[in-house]
Amino acid sequence: MANSMLEFDIAIIGGGGAGIPAAIEVGRAGGSAAVLEQAEECGGTAAISGGGCCIVGTPLQKSHGIEDTPDLAFEDWVKWGGGSADEVWARYYLEHTLHDLYYWAENCGAKWVDMKFQEGNRVLRWHRPENNGLGLMTALIKTAESMPNIKIMTRTGAGKLLTKNGRVVGVTASSNNETIEIFSKAVVVATGGFNSNLDMVLEVRPEFQKFRVMEGSGFGAKGIGHKMIKELGGYLTHMDHIWFYVYATPDYRDPQQRRGLVFRMTPGYIWFNQQGRRFHNESVTGGASATPALLAQNPPHAWAVLDHPMTAKMDVADPYYRRGDVIDHAKVQELLDNSPYIRKADSLEDLGKKIEVDLASFLSEVKDYNDAFDRGLETEPKFGKSLKLSKRFDTPPYYAIQLFPLARKNFGGVKTDLRCRVLNKHFEPIPGLYAAGEVSGMAGGHINGRNGLEGTMLGPSVFSGRVAGAWAAHEAGFGPGFVGKPNRP
Ligand SMILES: Cc1cc2nc3c(=O)[nH]c(=O)nc-3n(C[C@H](O)[C@H](O)[C@H](O)COP(=O)(O)OP(=O)(O)OC[C@H]3O[C@@H](n4cnc5c(N)ncnc54)[C@H](O)[C@@H]3O)c2cc1C
Repeated sequence: MANSMLEFDIAIIGGGGAGIPAAIEVGRAGGSAAVLEQAEECGGTAAISGGGCCIVGTPLQKSHGIEDTPDLAFEDWVKWGGGSADEVWARYYLEHTLHDLYYWAENCGAKWVDMKFQEGNRVLRWHRPENNGLGLMTALIKTAESMPNIKIMTRTGAGKLLTKNGRVVGVTASSNNETIEIFSKAVVVATGGFNSNLDMVLEVRPEFQKFRVMEGSGFGAKGIGHKMIKELGGYLTHMDHIWFYVYATPDYRDPQQRRGLVFRMTPGYIWFNQQGRRFHNESVTGGASATPALLAQNPPHAWAVLDHPMTAKMDVADPYYRRGDVIDHAKVQELLDNSPYIRKADSLEDLGKKIEVDLASFLSEVKDYNDAFDRGLETEPKFGKSLKLSKRFDTPPYYAIQLFPLARKNFGGVKTDLRCRVLNKHFEPIPGLYAAGEVSGMAGGHINGRNGLEGTMLGPSVFSGRVAGAWAAHEAGFGPGFVGKPNRP
């Protein structure tokens, strides 16, 4: 028995990268919406993300002399997706990124500040907002909060979808130990992915059961929305398409020892397998390159070796290790000093002994690497790693950080049509039910395919959130649905 009942035109489950844009669309169409967010504040994984979005044909690209078109981006996207990208959704997204993501986000108060190269792209198109994902989400959340017809309910976890005569008519939720029933004309599920639920990851990727794999998405990415939708007969697709990263180490502060910490910006480090051999160009860290290289090792883990000055650049992608957009170096040092997955020694020889690799191979690899600097080479000969941002290993203490694969992004999920209506196994919409963002494999079910060009998670999540919100509002009697402005000649 519910403690209270509420009524809105649209109920949105999840206040992250897709849920907040969905709310903005409902609000702008004139409908009322409740955003149910289980955490203390909105933002989700999107707020801790790098914020990078794959966007095409922008003023920022033009200011760098880059000519980019949806056609060029589409070719890169489909090729990189390894044959399993949803081409219809990819095309739809890419044509809409300029007006319906870049300018739209600016209009909500975000600012695009720079771009970065990402593997698989022929031009720079990964656009970073000011203050990363937090900056983008802060602007969007403020926009939603300013709308009188949007009610944001934090610390409110959604439980079960409510149905009547085969139609979704609301959702149950709990807040402060009270049960609420929220009735609505349609529900948008925007609960994010499932990469912080190791059991679900191992269920779809059983081959990882024999290795150590870490949970690596936002805290709320537990797959609750997938379960709710599956219960109602929603079709889940490409669930095994998970983007793993390997520059991550277990979070020793996690009592369950399941979470991983990604650390970036360590250009000098080199990686060793347990045989004491380097096996990859460490400056190429993407999910389609570094991940298969590490997984091919026996056992499938590695040691990232750094000397003392290199640790100064270490950026741990977790809110505990940052103050806003600034690295908290004291916390990073705390990690280096305390993690049982990190070894420290005053000589490379002692470090090699501590990590129990083949010592002769280990020392000879470091010597070869250092020789490349002594010879004034621009790249080291073994894998062609550029030495521009790197240095010799010569300043103790030396550190070895143990790396394991980390499940980061879901490229598969709930199948939807181009209106984000959830489809059943007959590919027919379940009345009143919409899904957007990572729960729907970022958009539509599997917009990326096996690999992502980067920026192709948050971008499609925000975009599909808008699409879902606009069409849900339309179904409830508000607005024309999602129209947008495609970037076509
Ligand atoms: C560290 C990190 C960096 C990243 N960087 C990038 C990047 O630079 N570019 C890029 O494209 N992608 C990036 N990603 C991926 C991207 O952030 C996500 O794909 C995106 O945020 C997904 O948006 P979403 O709205 O689907 O999920 P989220 O943003 O995670 O939002 C889902 C929300 O739903 C809430 N929720 C879940 N279940 C319930 C429930 N039952 N009741 C109520 N609320 C619930 C969650 O608490 C959460 O707030 C990154 C991911 C990580 C982990």
